[in-house]
Amino acid sequence: MIKPRPEIVDILPYVPGKPIEDVQREYGLEHVIKLASNENPLGTSGKVKEALIDYIKGGLNLYPDGNSTNLKEKLAQKYNLNTDNFLPTNGGDEALSLIVQAYVNPTDEVILSELTFPRYTHTSTIMGAKLTYIPMKDLKYDLDGIYNAINENTKLIWLCNPNNPTGTMLSEKEILDFLNKVPEDILVVYDEAYIEFVDSPNAVKNAYLLFKEYPNVITLKTFSKIHGLAGLRIGYLVGEPEILNNMNKIRDPFNCNTLAQIAAIHALDDDEFIKKVYDNNIKGKEYLYKNLNELNIPYTDSQTNHIFIETPTIDSKTLFEEMQKKGVIVRPFGENYTRVSIGTEAENIKFIEALKEILNNI
Ligand SMILES: *Cc1c(COP(=O)(O)O)cnc(C)c1O
Repeated sequence: MIKPRPEIVDILPYVPGKPIEDVQREYGLEHVIKLASNENPLGTSGKVKEALIDYIKGGLNLYPDGNSTNLKEKLAQKYNLNTDNFLPTNGGDEALSLIVQAYVNPTDEVILSELTFPRYTHTSTIMGAKLTYIPMKDLKYDLDGIYNAINENTKLIWLCNPNNPTGTMLSEKEILDFLNKVPEDILVVYDEAYIEFVDSPNAVKNAYLLFKEYPNVITLKTFSKIHGLAGLRIGYLVGEPEILNNMNKIRDPFNCNTLAQIAAIHALDDDEFIKKVYDNNIKGKEYLYKNLNELNIPYTDSQTNHIFIETPTIDSKTLFEEMQKKGVIVRPFGENYTRVSIGTEAENIKFIEALKEILNNI
């Protein structure tokens, strides 16, 4: 057999959240809800959908604008930065891959937290990096642990804030104290995919400006979460032009498709939709907290659109299967942890009812 690169031999293909149709078929259920992938429960902005339909009427025969010019201009205007401070990508996922392809050599070390976004592991492993995992403290990133793990081979540090899957957040003070200490020749990827859901006053404000003080920091943002565009694949990096240029050189020429670019531009303008999604999330979070308290289920303080719960009396795989039988798809982690995305009011009620029944029957 032809041998692939040794770095990829042990990598397993991505396992996506289970699709609704599979669960419907497997359990003969009509009504199944998916609270497994942190998708937007309110769909997509009506204004975005109109703009997309308008464009499609004219046909899809032309290649996209390979430089995402209009989107970059829109972002530059919104954040009061220059267009070369932005690099739109085919979802945040592509940005993560481009960063390691541009910067991480085999044997370089990357530092990441336990229980964080799995794509950090995947993309770094493909490049042959040595990964150093830092245990969490109370299901939060341990920044001192990360700092102490830095050595002369460290090339990159992944930070997800607020964090997926634990929902926990580091404060602005904690992040700035950390960045002040990190040597400038180490790249820090600051992933704030969930920033729009934060309700704590301690959040890092304007993380898109971090690169001005810390040129080694790249901020990652996505349209998949609050904007409800996960199906179109669009996200972007904000940072020093000199750094972004290295990812720009190696990306596919048409990495962001035309519809994704149009959708992103219109999504940025629909403040009403963004507020509706935020309000729904806060309301759902309060409802879930209240019911989890009544059930004595521990959970972390979530600053995201998902809640990370611990079920000491039932292992997460069993809970996952029992939930599916009741038409609810969640995401198990480790032995006793489960991540549930905050849904619509009806979805949250269905989740709590299912959880109650399962816990009452063990
Ligand atoms: C969802 C998510 C992203 C971005 O996802 P895309 O859909 O690829 O834009 C990035 N980081 C984290 C932690 C996420 O949860």
